[in-house]
Formats: sequence, structure tokens, C-alpha cells
Amino acid sequence: MSDADGSDALSPDEAFAVLGDETRLGILRTLGEATEPLPFSALRERVGVRDSGQFNYHLEKVVGHFVEKTEAGYVLRRAGRRVVEAVLSGAVTGTPELERTRIDRSCGNCGAPVEIRWRSGSVELFCTECAGRYGQSYGANKRPEAVERGYLGRMPLPPAGLGKRTPTEAARAAWTWAHLEMFAMASGLCPRCSATVEYEVFPCEDHDADGGVCERCESANAVNLGVDCTNCLFRGGGAFVIKLVSDPHLLAFLTDHGLDPIVPSDPHRVDRVHTEYEETIHSTEPFRAEFTFAVGEDSLTLTVDDDLAVVDAERDR
Ligand SMILES: [Zn+2]
Ligand SMILES: [Zn+2]
Ligand SMILES: [Zn+2]
Repeated sequence: MSDADGSDALSPDEAFAVLGDETRLGILRTLGEATEPLPFSALRERVGVRDSGQFNYHLEKVVGHFVEKTEAGYVLRRAGRRVVEAVLSGAVTGTPELERTRIDRSCGNCGAPVEIRWRSGSVELFCTECAGRYGQSYGANKRPEAVERGYLGRMPLPPAGLGKRTPTEAARAAWTWAHLEMFAMASGLCPRCSATVEYEVFPCEDHDADGGVCERCESANAVNLGVDCTNCLFRGGGAFVIKLVSDPHLLAFLTDHGLDPIVPSDPHRVDRVHTEYEETIHSTEPFRAEFTFAVGEDSLTLTVDDDLAVVDAERDR
């Protein structure tokens, strides 16, 4: 069995054994930074190992799956590049910290200032006044989790995303990063590993949020969605709109109103469309519901069936 790289498949256990060593990771990083193939001695010098016998021992462990030996020297294979990318996305000097900081943005519910903080790979948003949009967080763990008052949700952002950005800029970067993840999830792909995902829909039949959080489902939305990768550890979730962001009708509705759904000049206006929609649950078993999005006087209603597919789209103007 060979993968697309032409190298033999490696089990996760083997991969960890190979990578649990500074010298081997150093080899991958050095080759990742190199602009051309590196012969043995040049590679050894750049990695900074004196003993060539010892260096060769470690090099042999990564040659094959991660590194290819060519006539001109050693080069990274795709699997090696993926490892370096993953390491670099978390590589910043020290653990990045961003405690609750006010940003240039206001709460969609009440207009009060919004604060963000960064915690374990995500930017978390909080309203400084109202109860927020969720009484608990979905997706970070296997079960919904309690959160601080005012929780408006979280957007993934690798540690590297915080670097050289102000808190407001970091929140914007997280917005785009989160929406790219949502597009993947909506399209049935895991944003981490591209495997298929499974969906779980959580409709609240007697939903009563009244501009805040419903006591029954602890959410501002009547329909929430869990997204679970069938291959890796990835879990995501939140309001059902996650499943609809890549729908062509909704994309056209946004762009027809001058709203960029990926890098908007005003993320708040796109958020309003994505958060202030109306939900009508027609039935839960089988699931069937309608979601009506609005920009000004114009509206778009999407009907979703038990397969979570859009089966009808109606535009009012
Ligand atoms: Zn608020
Ligand atoms: Zn509810
Ligand atoms: Zn995955």
C-alpha cells in the first residue's frame, strides 16, 4: 500500500515515535525552511548536530514517510510538510495570552461593547452587558459546557493568528478563519483533516428566547447543530446557520446586498444576517424547518429537511 506521496502508510503510533524527538523535528523544520534540497553534511550542520553517526540514526527514522532522499539531497515529503505546518501554527514564543479586552465592535443583541479573550485555540466573545447568545458552549468538548455570562460564542484561531495583530484585528482574522471552517463543515468536510463529518441537529420545540437565551435549550437559537469528524478529534457546533453558510442561495443573497461572506469590510453586517434570522420548526421527527434571513426589507427563506439539505429557497425581492 502506498499513499499519493509514494511512501508507505504510517500508523499514528509510529508517527509519534518518530516525532517524539527534538533532532527529528529539527530535521523536518530545517528542510521546511530550506529553499533547495540539502546534502547530508549541510543538513547536519543546519540542524546543529556534531556527531554524524548519531545524526544519521535520527535522519534514517524520518527518511521514507516524512523526508525523501534525492540525488541533490534531502527534501520534505508532503507528510513532513504537514507536520512542520502544524508545529509552526502553534509555535510562538511562550504561550500566547489575551485576557478579556474590549474590541472595536458592539454586541448584536444589545449594542454594548464586546470583549474578547483567547483561550486554548479560540477567540471567545463576551457582551459586557447582556446575557449573550449562549448559556453554554457547544463543540469544545463532548458535551455542552458552562460558560461565563455574556458569552457570544467562540471562533477558532491558532496561536500564530494572534501574532502582530491588535485584539480587534485578531477578532477579524478569527472571523474569517471561523467562516472558512464553517464552509468546510457546511460542505461535509472536516476542517482539520478533510474526512467526512456527521451532523446532529438539536431542535428546541418550545423555544422561548425573547432576545436572550431560552431556558429549555440554553441557546438564543431554536435549532442548533453538532458537527463531528468521523476520523479525527474535531468537533464543532452552534446555531444551525453553520449548515447553511455555503448554500448558494444564501451566498447570492449576501453578495447581491454588497456583503462579502468571507472577508467582509463590516463583519457585523454579515453577522446580523447570520444571527438574526427567523426559525420555524415544522417537525422534529422527521426534522423539517424553515430559516428566514433578512437584509433590510429583503428576505430569503430556506427550507431544510431531515437530511439537513436545503429543499426549497424562496426569495422575497
Ligand atoms: Zn449584549
Ligand atoms: Zn429553546
Ligand atoms: Zn477530522
